[in-house]
Amino acid sequence: MGNGTHENEYGFQTRAVHTGNDVDGETGAIKRPITMANSYELPYDPTDVNWSSAAGNLYTRNGGSNQKYLQEKLASLEGGEDCIVLASGVAALSGLFFALLESGDHVIFSSVTYIAVYRLLNELFNNKFQVETTIVDTSDLDAVRRAIRPNTKLIHIETPGNPTLTISDIKAIADIAHKNGALLSVDNTFASPFNQRPIELGADFTIESLTKYINGHGDAMGGAIIGKTEYLDVIRAQSQINLGATISPFNAWLIMRGSVTLPLRMRQHNENAMRVARWLQDLPCVSFVAYPGLESHQGHEIATRQMAPGFGGVLSFGLKSDHDTNNRFVSSLNVITSAVSLGHDESLIVFLGENDERQYLYPKEFHNGFFRMSVGIEDVEDIIEDLSQALKKVGLL
Ligand SMILES: *Cc1c(COP(=O)(O)O)cnc(C)c1O
Repeated sequence: MGNGTHENEYGFQTRAVHTGNDVDGETGAIKRPITMANSYELPYDPTDVNWSSAAGNLYTRNGGSNQKYLQEKLASLEGGEDCIVLASGVAALSGLFFALLESGDHVIFSSVTYIAVYRLLNELFNNKFQVETTIVDTSDLDAVRRAIRPNTKLIHIETPGNPTLTISDIKAIADIAHKNGALLSVDNTFASPFNQRPIELGADFTIESLTKYINGHGDAMGGAIIGKTEYLDVIRAQSQINLGATISPFNAWLIMRGSVTLPLRMRQHNENAMRVARWLQDLPCVSFVAYPGLESHQGHEIATRQMAPGFGGVLSFGLKSDHDTNNRFVSSLNVITSAVSLGHDESLIVFLGENDERQYLYPKEFHNGFFRMSVGIEDVEDIIEDLSQALKKVGLL
């Protein structure tokens, strides 16, 4: 497939394979090369060049070719007009907030979000830049409506939210935002564009940590902002070029390669996580399982509407156990690794203790310590057998 073939008439899988790739003009290679150069040749007379411009190829911090290939693919997969890729998911979040928010603006954000969102908005932007912030349980639409102020510029939600898997209704919150002259950004990292496309549901911006499902192999960090060019040009000019959180061309290339199999991997993550959630739910030693695919989940109905074809690979659960037994359980696992991050090929688990500073924002079943598990794409029988033998070893099964 050559240039101009990324229109949305092609299916998701076809675009995951082809969009952003082309035959290399110099060698005829059917995969575009990695361009590690920092600079690109200047025109004969460079005196009119805008050194802070992101148009054309000038300097890799302003945007190099591998970044641009990946941006083309991600804009297409998310159903958005334009995309900026940066060095990490947090660079994408901070780049968006930095460009959009001014002193005196008000921002509403989900009570359950990635920790850096809480730090950025509730501590740094609030204290340093006098941005007003309100933390809201955005699964409650009336609470979102009540929090709106005349100066509300942005609503930022994460759905499913990390780490409680709380579901917020993207379409309904987009309506509330737009009726009140505000913008909506959605952190889509837990779902990935295979399961959920916030822009198609009315959001103005989608944020992805590419570190997770989109790269999928746990070996490259990156982040993306997807949205309209009108806003992304401002974010590019203010945040990418001046904050400087540029992704390495090598990482952009790795993520481009990883993303080819996103649909295949997500199908397996969805299927494996559903099986593990159902298995855990039936155990007497399990105090709760939070997975939006379970009928018992608070947001199951909304998740079924906005997350087709599946619910992702992350779930959280608690054990009727104590602190030490929880740690012994994790250290007894053989297939599943104790490590942060999620959306990798391999299964990962984190024991989140009883003293999390944001615990007061979580539902009460999360207050006694719990596990966040990212179910990988291994044979699901091996994942379940691993959990089972570890529970037996610590006397819970
Ligand atoms: C990991 C994560 C991030 C941050 O991404 P990095 O690539 O680690 O900077 C943001 N949001 C969510 C939901 C995440 O899980």
